Amino acid sequence: MDSMTTANLIATVDLDAIAHNVGVLGERSGAGVIAVVKADGYGHGAVPVAKAALAAGAAAIGTASIREARELRAGGVDGHVMTWLHRPDSDFAGAVADRLDIGISSPRQLDAVVAAARAAGTTAIVTVKVDTGLARSGVAAEEWDAAASAVAVAVAEGAVELSGVMCHLVFGDEPDNPFNDVQAERLDAAVADLTKRGARPRIVHMANSPAALARPDLARDLVRPGIAVYGYSPIPSMGDFGLVPAMTLETQVSLVKNAEQGQGVSYSHTWHAPTDTVLGVIPAGYADGVPRSLSGRLQVHIGDRLFPNVGRICMDQFVVDLGPDGGGVAEGDRAVLFGPASAAPGERVPTATDWADALGTIDYEIVSRIGSRPERRYVGGPSGQTQEG
Ligand SMILES: *Cc1c(COP(=O)(O)O)cnc(C)c1O
Repeated sequence: MDSMTTANLIATVDLDAIAHNVGVLGERSGAGVIAVVKADGYGHGAVPVAKAALAAGAAAIGTASIREARELRAGGVDGHVMTWLHRPDSDFAGAVADRLDIGISSPRQLDAVVAAARAAGTTAIVTVKVDTGLARSGVAAEEWDAAASAVAVAVAEGAVELSGVMCHLVFGDEPDNPFNDVQAERLDAAVADLTKRGARPRIVHMANSPAALARPDLARDLVRPGIAVYGYSPIPSMGDFGLVPAMTLETQVSLVKNAEQGQGVSYSHTWHAPTDTVLGVIPAGYADGVPRSLSGRLQVHIGDRLFPNVGRICMDQFVVDLGPDGGGVAEGDRAVLFGPASAAPGERVPTATDWADALGTIDYEIVSRIGSRPERRYVGGPSGQTQEG
């Protein structure tokens, strides 16, 4: 880490790890990869991740909202970008102007897209998102006929170019669940129906990270992984699949101070020093995505050792117990909250997955909640150059 930094907490993102993971996903699935970069690239930074993924051979980039997709365009991402979750008043005109592939989940969304295309005197690029059983977004079975015939009309009129047909799996992380095959059959039937109506899609996709890695037979033309792009195993019981986590969350020890036996630490003095000890202040808190509910259950890697958080995690800072001898820790020492950062033999740097396990959630939630306050620092990547973001 450079000695000069503007933010207290740094999320270092290894773009070579992103490229490596895109390669793993393509190889294991045998299909092209749509790298999902919603929620600011699961907290990693959408624009640099999208550029790294495309440079590594990803076929396309996926986002939830039109806003996220347009931010990619504004950031210089020129490739195939698709977006699939909209409000009735979403910026379809902007999506058409930016040549986004717009996923539609109802005849009303298709109408809005067609109207935007007509107003602009151009053709909209559309993917039909089919609800094959997740019962979330996607065209409902009861609306399929209306949606499919409207798509066929729009394609025949030249208002719409049908790019793809997609659905999202309910049990992607249970590779053997028979419902995966039910959804695949329903998706294939939707593709056949559209084709029969004269609207044949160019690309079909349903597989998220776990399915891309564990069910290559579900890959149609493309797979659509998110979390695995960032290096986290979507099915931990099946191992790491050779994925490499891209993010290291790190800072420096801000302050070292002595505490006498009995000293209470942080708000409400929920922890008292059992002996005379040395405390280290870590300038990271829940506003940076360090969950307050991890208070007392978090370990920080400093100088090849792990030190426990004591007392409450606050908005901007928390405290670790360095022990009576101070653990050899000095102000300014590198403190890794989680990472793939290397550790001494026999030591283990905590991971985002450890945090998620402790909290009873998934690592998706940990990384996507690293907010805008921590600085993103990029290493590796297409230009091979370190960038700040
Ligand atoms: C988030 C999302 C993905 C990626 O899911 P992962 O489990 O992170 O691989 C794929 N498709 C859709 C529609 C999504 O919303």
